[in-house]
Amino acid sequence: MDLIIARPEGLYCAAGDFYIDPWRPVERAVITHGHGDHARTGSQHYLSATPGAGILRARLGETINLQTLAYGERIDHHGVTLSFHPAGHVLGSAQVRVEHQGEVWVASGDYKVEADGTCEPFEPVRCHCFITESTFGLPIYRWQPQREVFDEINQWWRANAQAERPSVLFAYSFGKAQRILHGIDASIGPILAHGSVEPLNRVYREGGIYLPETLYATDFKKTDPLLRQALIVAPPSAAGSTWMRRFGDYSDGFASGWMRLRGARRRRGVDRGFVLSDHADWPGLLWAIEQTGAERVMVTHGSTSVLARYLCEQGLDGREMKIEAYGDPEEAA
Ligand SMILES: [Zn+2]
Ligand SMILES: [Zn+2]
Repeated sequence: MDLIIARPEGLYCAAGDFYIDPWRPVERAVITHGHGDHARTGSQHYLSATPGAGILRARLGETINLQTLAYGERIDHHGVTLSFHPAGHVLGSAQVRVEHQGEVWVASGDYKVEADGTCEPFEPVRCHCFITESTFGLPIYRWQPQREVFDEINQWWRANAQAERPSVLFAYSFGKAQRILHGIDASIGPILAHGSVEPLNRVYREGGIYLPETLYATDFKKTDPLLRQALIVAPPSAAGSTWMRRFGDYSDGFASGWMRLRGARRRRGVDRGFVLSDHADWPGLLWAIEQTGAERVMVTHGSTSVLARYLCEQGLDGREMKIEAYGDPEEAA
């Protein structure tokens, strides 16, 4: 029997009797990271990597029954050895390594192979079977180096500031927003964070991640000329809200891997699309899979059939792992 199988509740390890990122309440939930489609409320016991504890408590509640392990630290449970290894996706994100009677499986959760300074970089883990995500598992997805994307964002912001127009950048509030704050040139002007972004900034700062000073919109009078030099980081859900009105005539942009798709910027109705993803691109997925040395690769979460077929053509045992769809991938890509 396979060490980890798909069940209606989520990925399940029968030997250890626990679930990985279950979407229904269970007795024991092992959580790869705090995004909403992976960390859900209602389970009895939670286990996560230590750097993810602050995020999980902020999102699932301070009172959850949470045990944590440092990256690489092992615990034994019913003869199963479990450990977490950095996934490079968001603060605290982890791959789950499970070993039972000499067989090693790794469930990747979401991962990104380019290090960004806001979380521990992705670390390949040798295994017999690798359960990989494939959010961007199509050959069209190839990210440019993030430095180039940050240069584009800086140029856009600088030009707007010179024209005395606020720059509103839409980004998912956990992970992407902090990565942008960490990577942009904070000398261009003041930075404002939306109320849903700032609590997560706090968790990152408490975790020792450098983020430039961020202000609230309420720190400014509407007539304050500094506001027109500002970069405003807000979640996509803020678009069109009354909160936006205070910024008057602004330029807006959207940062996401989905901006790689033709027409995505227009559908969002924003001036600029910045292709910046917290997931591996096609070459990144293939590199990560190769690094694991796994002969068998189970593909979940995204373009599963194309990647599984490609792996089979390369001589690997690539399979689609059919599980209930994770949440809206646009939320955190
Ligand atoms: Zn995620
Ligand atoms: Zn995900």
